[in-house]
Amino acid sequence: MTVRVRFAPSPTGYLHIGSARTALFNYLFAKHMGGKYLLRIEDTDRERSTPEAVDAIFSSLNWLGIKADEEPVFQYARAGRHAEVAHELLKRGHAYYCYCSPEELQAMRDEAAANKLPPRYNGLWRDRDQASAPQGVKPVIRFKSPQDGSLTINDKVQGPVTVQNAQLDDMVLLRADGSPTYMLSVVVDDHDMGITHIIRGDDHLTNAFRQHHIYEAMGWSVPEFAHIPLIHGMDGAKLSKRHGATSADVYRDLGYLPEAMKNYLLRLGWGHGDDEIITAEQAIEWFTLEGIGRSPARFDTVKLNNLNGHYIRHSNDHYLLELIKPSVEKQLGQPISSRQENLILKGMPGLKERAKTIVELSDSAIIYVHPLTRDEKAQAALTPENQAHLKNLLPKLEACDFNHDAIETVLRSAAEEFGLKLGQLAAPLRVAITGSTVSPSLFEVMSILGKEESCERIENIL
Ligand code: GLU
Repeated sequence: MTVRVRFAPSPTGYLHIGSARTALFNYLFAKHMGGKYLLRIEDTDRERSTPEAVDAIFSSLNWLGIKADEEPVFQYARAGRHAEVAHELLKRGHAYYCYCSPEELQAMRDEAAANKLPPRYNGLWRDRDQASAPQGVKPVIRFKSPQDGSLTINDKVQGPVTVQNAQLDDMVLLRADGSPTYMLSVVVDDHDMGITHIIRGDDHLTNAFRQHHIYEAMGWSVPEFAHIPLIHGMDGAKLSKRHGATSADVYRDLGYLPEAMKNYLLRLGWGHGDDEIITAEQAIEWFTLEGIGRSPARFDTVKLNNLNGHYIRHSNDHYLLELIKPSVEKQLGQPISSRQENLILKGMPGLKERAKTIVELSDSAIIYVHPLTRDEKAQAALTPENQAHLKNLLPKLEACDFNHDAIETVLRSAAEEFGLKLGQLAAPLRVAITGSTVSPSLFEVMSILGKEESCERIENIL
């Protein structure tokens, strides 16, 4: 059997970070098993589905490098096929027409509510003679759900879960206007797409029982199920906007690397011993459904930041340059020259040591292009006294061999000569060179910028 899995988002908004993890788990399982990972856009809710949301899903999945092995399937386009199956179930005696009026359905809901029970269709038309159908009423098609016994699903994550069949009422398969319901469409599509394993959020666990019965009624083989726990925030509540960003796209804009994000999402609810840093290849090699935990994972931004910092430190300098260039140019208001590019590249080893996000990296890289606008703290370092020190330092710097060690030697001896600690002289110098009170090593920044540029920046201050 070749494994075929699918990720089936509803395009009603951005791609939630939890859904991105579901996609990743599906993808890794398929690759681990040598199978296929497919994408199905569940756009049957015509009011809530938008083309923008479809684009957002594609762009987030692209960013994460989760690529489907076949063309995406759009569920709405298959409504005719779903209706066909509803009629087939009717023919086989597993479904029936129901002519209940809205008032009758409301009365059933009221009765259930009065008995403090969940709303439930009472099977009014299940065994009724269809000849007694009211004139001019368009019926819905309902599934004749088995009422005796129970069903146990051996969920790959949750273990065996049993539900009494009597708890399931006869759900609608096809509405009066001929449109299929979600429960029917999902089963038909998963069957037609040859899906062998359904890996999705555990908010769908109860649906699995209803869906299971439809498979059996059609004589189709039932896929394996793996319902993964949702992601929670650090406070233990379901992850929501209250905890910070929940959209995959926003994480890209906040400066997270796709590699880091994938590694983090993978570790969220799945484990391989104590391994924290897991390469894309190892993820495929190691991923199994058995490794998925049963309790909700907690989204920890601090861990994500540390992981992102790790991936930034280990990324190629040219790759990082390409990532930060748009934002550096935006801040600068013009394209950067190849000379400026080279300066950033030379400074990259020092810059990437400190950055937790690509946004931080591009903010700090600016110093190689242009001193930052001085904030209050930076401005405060430029007292008249400190400016006088910089003025006296300038000819010494101009006279020296402008490399890391030579700059350090000049600075140390100048500090001694002026009766200052090294830090007291370095502080205003740092502001002159970088515009900021924090930066990578000053000797390093100055040696990369070169004598001309460095001295010019000091002169500009004076
Ligand atoms: N479209 C459903 C959702 O976005 C997923 C359905 C499924 O995976 O079976 O929640």
